[in-house]
Amino acid sequence: MSAVPQPTRLAVARAEDPAVAAWRALVQALPDAAWVVALPALRVVTSNAAAAQLLGLDDATLRATPADQLLGTLEDQAYWDEAAHGTAGHLLSDTVLLAPDGQTLQMRRAIQPLVAPGARTATHCLVTLLDISGWQAAVAAQEDAVAELQATLESTADGILVTDLGGRVRAFNRRFAQLWAMPEDLLSQHHHAAVQDWMRRLVQDPQAYQRRLDSLQESTLVASTERLTLLSGQVLERVARPLWSRGRPLGRVWSFRDLSERLAADQQLETLARTDDLTGLPNRRRLAEQVEETAGMLQHDGDAFALLVLDLDRFRHVNDSLGHEVGDRALREVADRLRRMLRQGDAVARIGGDQFALLLRHVDAAAAEAAAERVLGAVAQPWQFDGVPFTLTCSVGIALAPGHGRSADELLRHAEGAMRQAKQAGSNSLRFHQQHAGVDLRSHMQLDHAMRQALASQRFRLHYQPQVDLTTGLVIGAEALIRWRDPALGEVSPLRFIPVAEDSGFIVAIGDWVLAQAARQAAAWAAAGRPMPVAVNVSALQFRQPGFVDRVAAVLQEHQLAPRWLELELTESILVRDADEALQRLQALARLGVRLSIDDFGTGYSSLAYLKRFPIGKLKIDRSFIQGLPADTSDAGIVRAIVQMALALGMQVIAEGVETEPQRAFLQAIGCHQFQGWLYAPAMDAVSFERLLPPG
Ligand code: C2E
Ligand code: MG
Ligand code: MG
Repeated sequence: MSAVPQPTRLAVARAEDPAVAAWRALVQALPDAAWVVALPALRVVTSNAAAAQLLGLDDATLRATPADQLLGTLEDQAYWDEAAHGTAGHLLSDTVLLAPDGQTLQMRRAIQPLVAPGARTATHCLVTLLDISGWQAAVAAQEDAVAELQATLESTADGILVTDLGGRVRAFNRRFAQLWAMPEDLLSQHHHAAVQDWMRRLVQDPQAYQRRLDSLQESTLVASTERLTLLSGQVLERVARPLWSRGRPLGRVWSFRDLSERLAADQQLETLARTDDLTGLPNRRRLAEQVEETAGMLQHDGDAFALLVLDLDRFRHVNDSLGHEVGDRALREVADRLRRMLRQGDAVARIGGDQFALLLRHVDAAAAEAAAERVLGAVAQPWQFDGVPFTLTCSVGIALAPGHGRSADELLRHAEGAMRQAKQAGSNSLRFHQQHAGVDLRSHMQLDHAMRQALASQRFRLHYQPQVDLTTGLVIGAEALIRWRDPALGEVSPLRFIPVAEDSGFIVAIGDWVLAQAARQAAAWAAAGRPMPVAVNVSALQFRQPGFVDRVAAVLQEHQLAPRWLELELTESILVRDADEALQRLQALARLGVRLSIDDFGTGYSSLAYLKRFPIGKLKIDRSFIQGLPADTSDAGIVRAIVQMALALGMQVIAEGVETEPQRAFLQAIGCHQFQGWLYAPAMDAVSFERLLPPG
């Protein structure tokens, strides 16, 4: 290859060549830098103004510079060697050029061999230089945009697929592949149809899927949202949005969102709204739904079902005395016991503080009653709290469907009414809804009204039940028990009206009357030379009256009764509520000299710590523990423990509700001091009572 510059003169002479003349015209017309090189001399025979400007050379210098040195070190020597030998082909290469103004330019250089007419091989080359700096920037910008787009796609939690109208996949993110468990190579083939095939195979209803897809294909304008349920159970929300650019539809963007978690969360919220926190049982709302569902099926299977509502007896005492934590434990325990009783298809719910309900399917009245009996038994099983055994009982009301109603509302109302009746008839029992009992609120109010009239017209009486010394067999006291015969209602049990009076507050007036009446009777017996301590039941509300102690003192004074002949039977709850206030009041009563005892002992709380603080002289073991004696080992254990505790504390202990000789014998054997019960005598009027006593 020659590096010798050719004289300009010769070049001009060559320019006469018609081919060169034509190429010159062409080069002049090109907008880009271009020149023609003669082979094999590698001499520039013509160039245009753009070339001169780009290279910073005038035409003469340009022509005087060998073609293989024009671009300095950037020139491709190997190519020019081949070109000089006539064997070079077309060359396209990118190169960087330092412009005369010091700017670095990206150039695309093309060298095209030219064959002059009549020649067999290339006689010339056309060199063009294209400034592609702008392109590179555009490409870089485009690449950046693509990277940005991809990063955006990857950063969303939704699966994204972009397709064009030609059936190709234009873009997707990894989340898309992952949601559909789609192999990346399937996606990288870019066939939208194959991708859709894959998806169709995974949905639960492929036909419906295809139908919706077809209808979507018909419109490129509309965005659509669908829910797809996959065979795996996963639920996806698919949004298909048309992709438009510059007024033309290009394709579609599909986004897929996994709704499973949200649906699960919704579901959980739903469940929570229908679940009782404490026990995990369905709540009242859920039970009502279950009852409605079951009632809805009545038409089909015509089978009766029963709704049992149970309410724990004296549960408030547990809470008041042992605290809510123990109360909560008790409720959970009851819930567990009820849960264990369920048959397939039955349901149990906690519908209120200490109220539960059972929905029993396919039962008639007899089966419902048997179930209720089992509930009573299960709840009454003693349980231990910190080593102290204790028993809860409940009252159960039963409503039968469809006989007593078909709606949840009606059945619940009736079962609750029946439950209240069971409660009034004495705890630990069950009652069916009575269609015409006229219970509930109305009778509550009627009863309250009748009680007020009874007090005003002196229809209350006191009966006295003997209390017997277990060692000597002698009557050593009497419990005053109120009796009421109403002209319209007949004989009304205190178990029925005392709770109503406690609710309305009328118990204060009744209690006051009882106190005075009992004191009068005790004074009469003392005056007759056969003094007999009389025990009076005092309700919590009555005890809490500010003037209660004064009232007791006044009554003693009025009847000239020595305080030791009056005993007050208090409930355990009195000791716990406002314990300090109660303590002061009890101390004031003790200072008066009246005796104090705890009634129904064992049902509320059994904490020694409490008892020791109070000036209590006597414990009265609740009837419910006596019933099972002596065979029931847990009852026997409880009674034995109470007696031992009383002895240890130096207290008297009396058992109530003793009905059989074996019960009495057991109590005597374990060292219980006294008993009271039908075995000896029920409560009776004062005159009858006197007949039991030895002549004074
Ligand atoms: P309590 O104070 O525990 O009275 C014992 C209850 O057991 C009495 O029922 C009595 O008749 C009954 N009873 C006695 N021996 C036996 C027996 O061997 N077996 C059975 N099954 N029961 C027996 P009563 O008279 O119906 O009184 C029920 C409750 O009403 C009383 O329970 C008491 O809490 C309340 N009460 C009664 N009179 C008064 C009163 O004057 N004032 C207040 N505040 N409450 C009263
Ligand atoms: Mg009593
Ligand atoms: Mg009692």
